[in-house]
Amino acid sequence: MIFDILTIFPSFFDSPLKEGVIHKAIEADLLKIRTLNLRDYTHDRHRTTDDRPYGGGEGMVMKIEPLFKALEDLKKALPAPKVILMSPRGQVLKQNLVEDLAKEERLIIICGRYEGVDERFIEHCVDLELSIGDYILSGGETAALVVIEAVSRLIPGVLGCPASPHKDSFSNGLLEYPHYTRPADFKGWRVPDVLLSGDHKKIEKWRRQQSLKVTYERRPDLLKKAPLSIEDIKYLKGLGWKAE
Ligand code: SAH
Repeated sequence: MIFDILTIFPSFFDSPLKEGVIHKAIEADLLKIRTLNLRDYTHDRHRTTDDRPYGGGEGMVMKIEPLFKALEDLKKALPAPKVILMSPRGQVLKQNLVEDLAKEERLIIICGRYEGVDERFIEHCVDLELSIGDYILSGGETAALVVIEAVSRLIPGVLGCPASPHKDSFSNGLLEYPHYTRPADFKGWRVPDVLLSGDHKKIEKWRRQQSLKVTYERRPDLLKKAPLSIEDIKYLKGLGWKAE
């Protein structure tokens, strides 16, 4: 999978792409991540990418010409990309959308700055506006990294253990059960006995119930859409859950 990131701060990505899972995936040729400097698509002496807003008001707006030129250039290469603009006005990123994006061959991610981007560029050149949540960042670079990290780990081969992304929170509609590792007793804080029992059936049931419990307590909204068995529903009702 290929990510092309369009930004005025390309070096922002240097260190995060050199660490951990993403770095390994790049080394293994499972991922290609290129950063492009938007200023390379300007023609004035100051390499201007922003200008004052029509209609007045605070802040600056990213100009359409460099963005358009950069995109035109990028679109000459194959495979055909999906063009994403990071924006707090966009669709909020959720795991099901991450799963859809992981099916693409190539994503172009555009990082906004200042007050945002000339609306004509969004209207005519962008396929998807994407937000990472209801808060305002100073730029789209951090948000782009969030997208890249979430999508990359679903690409086959990127995570060592192929089963693990499907057990994570959200992938089955629920939050995940708690994890423990050695020692079994730390200052009297003990690991739940069931996990030491070696009884895999019992452990699986306990984990499912913990998953249901933590979702009920912290994100009951998720239960409305999660696929639940009759046994799950019985357990949840025992906790006080009222299905509508
Ligand atoms: N004036 C804009 C905010 C601009 S913030 C507004 O009120 O909607 C500057 C840039 O940061 C945006 O263009 C976008 O690329 C990025 N950004 C800020 N918050 C974001 C979020 N929650 N999700 C994705 N990108 C975000």
